[in-house]
Amino acid sequence: AHLDRMAEVEPKVKAFLHVDREVTLEQARAVDARLRAGEKLGPLAGVPIAHKDIFSTHDMPTTAASKILEGWRPPYDATVTKRLREAGLVFLGKTNLDEFAMGSSTENSAYHPTHNPWDLTKVPGGSSGGSSAAVAAYEAPLSTGTDTGGSIRQPAAVTGIVGMKPTYGGSSRYGIIAFASSLDTPGPFARNVLDAALLHEAFSGHDPMDSTSVDAPVPSVVEAAKSPDIAGMRIGVVKEFSGEGYQAGVLARYNEVVKLLESLGATVVEVSCPSFTTALPAYYLIAPSECSSNLARFDAMRYGLRVGDDGTRSAEEVMALTRAAGFGPEVKRRIMLGTYALSSGYYDAYYGQAQKVRTLIARDFEAAYQQVDVLVSPTTPTTAFAIGERADDPMAMYLADLCTIPSNLAGNAAMSVPCGLADEDGLPVGLQIMAPVLADDRCYRVGAAVE
Ligand code: GLN
Repeated sequence: AHLDRMAEVEPKVKAFLHVDREVTLEQARAVDARLRAGEKLGPLAGVPIAHKDIFSTHDMPTTAASKILEGWRPPYDATVTKRLREAGLVFLGKTNLDEFAMGSSTENSAYHPTHNPWDLTKVPGGSSGGSSAAVAAYEAPLSTGTDTGGSIRQPAAVTGIVGMKPTYGGSSRYGIIAFASSLDTPGPFARNVLDAALLHEAFSGHDPMDSTSVDAPVPSVVEAAKSPDIAGMRIGVVKEFSGEGYQAGVLARYNEVVKLLESLGATVVEVSCPSFTTALPAYYLIAPSECSSNLARFDAMRYGLRVGDDGTRSAEEVMALTRAAGFGPEVKRRIMLGTYALSSGYYDAYYGQAQKVRTLIARDFEAAYQQVDVLVSPTTPTTAFAIGERADDPMAMYLADLCTIPSNLAGNAAMSVPCGLADEDGLPVGLQIMAPVLADDRCYRVGAAVE
């Protein structure tokens, strides 16, 4: 049924980069055979899922939406992929994203933009915009994403679905094409909080293949999603994340949902996190710095695209030609920014300074969590913007991540849950729920109460 739905809406939505009906049906038949043979599989056995094309899959291409990896088939599965297969989920295909997950609109894909199912002239958010659009368009009940600076929560917010960034290290990065290794976090998309929790549990937990994986029990997110009682919970409203620069319709829904939380028995207080306003510039130094190092591996020698190797050119020339042809403009911008920020003479002023700001942000969170159990804010300052509107203005594009980035810098858990439609454009608004490290269950509890 989902493959049929895809055939119907994909020409308009364009959520996927790769679909192979036969591979999907074969996977479904294999799960069916396992169940018939009496194998005990989890609650998601047989459920179809759309998979962001940044997770390695041995039986489907993995491109990170870049020309430099066009047609590449990894020799192995990412840990998340492997765990989903073991749990009996069936992959519908690989979804579109901003190239190497750099962007907030999916317009930076080297292949094609994805359209927001609510209004096809709008973006579905990014970088995991293919995954958010697929779930919002009912092409898939579940999908995967990665969140480095908001790439699960922001697309979830602007397509009216649930998106969760687990605690950093709570879910494995092994086999995910790296963007910024100290920030990258895989997480689930779903149309409701319980579905997101089931998916979260299916792929989370310690992985010896990822040196930053946390060796601690997975928070009981499914149980939390089933018990939306928030009476007595202390909820902090982030003072810095509302007011000027926020769309009126976003603020209206946000203020209503805060009142709803209060009426459900939570104690709501305003909390000031002064360093949060410096998170965006710190992120846009740290993430490009890490990306400039991570993307050095695309050197035309080991795998992927190779341009100009005609026997007359040096390895260095082939490398330069390949990288010039294979990377898109935003990726090049990030590599240049990051290389500059890390270069000797500028390191202390840029990268070093950004790392200090990162510590201040973590301290703001620590101080806030002395007073409250969770923090809330709008997920994004505006609803979905038009395709093309911010494409030539990187600063305007980066503003979409204003509220989501602090949780990445601190490694905390954070969720976006739908909280209604903005009056002026009828587009979805998201509430962001932020919780301390390994307290992911609190996001699910509050999310379920809002839902
Ligand atoms: N939009 C942010 C960026 O462009 C975040 C991306 C992400 O979380 N992968 O870097």
